[in-house]
Amino acid sequence: LFVDLDAYDEVSVEITGDNIPEPMSNFYDLDIGEIVYKNVKEARFGRPTPVQKHSFSVIINGRDLMACAETGSGKTVAFACPIISRILFEGIAVQKRGSFNNYQRRYGFVAEPLSLILTPTRELSQQIHKECIKFSKNSPLNCSCVYGGTPIYNQINSLRKEPTHLLVATPGRLIDLLNRKEVNLSKLKFLVLDEADRMLDMGFIPQIREIIEDFNMPIKNRQTLMFSATFPKEIQRLASDFLTDYIFLSVGKIGS
Ligand code: ADP
Ligand code: MG
Repeated sequence: LFVDLDAYDEVSVEITGDNIPEPMSNFYDLDIGEIVYKNVKEARFGRPTPVQKHSFSVIINGRDLMACAETGSGKTVAFACPIISRILFEGIAVQKRGSFNNYQRRYGFVAEPLSLILTPTRELSQQIHKECIKFSKNSPLNCSCVYGGTPIYNQINSLRKEPTHLLVATPGRLIDLLNRKEVNLSKLKFLVLDEADRMLDMGFIPQIREIIEDFNMPIKNRQTLMFSATFPKEIQRLASDFLTDYIFLSVGKIGS
């Protein structure tokens, strides 16, 4: 356990933006739906961390978010749970077996995720994928994970098997899959850039811009959420380019 909840009571929280939604103080404060609530309960967290208190209410209220918080502050749950709640509320993830068309039955699916989570490394993507599965348990949502450094064909085969609702990806491999038309972003409702500062350090910013700008991703009706430990100039620029009327949240101190 990396989260020291008592220490968090003393941590400073800065939050700015128009009409800031009231943060939740407990996981049962907000309506996150029965399925997610049960999955959170099963995780035995007790209390939400500060980034979770604010992030849940911002996301449930449909707002964009730029959140700065240190490693180990519970950011994965902070975006995964409310996104899953929103998708389940909207009832857009349910595609019954009988409604698959002949093409899909014969050749498999083009992945049309409702939520895309971009992350810098294979390890992080696998970790986030695991959490997404955990918190969408007993729901009709399917989660997939794609990353580089491993044969693309295995990932294509598994993407084709079932509809993908949540996709966790590293930028390079996702671009390969987009170019091969195995993934289509036109139905996207939620875009998460996790560990934005690490993506910057690893030189991924041009690929991130390409993914957002060149592959038919919706602009309106898309909720965009950025998470970072630090907030350098390039990340500030990314936020102002791709977030709309966003809430800025900073928990604890921001590094250089
Ligand atoms: P970050 O992305 O901010 O580095 P993670 O999302 O990886 O942090 O979370 C770090 C650890 O804290 C994980 O093991 C996670 O299960 C745990 N955790 C998350 N939220 C809580 C909570 N509210 N209470 C206790 N543990 C939590
Ligand atoms: Mg994280």
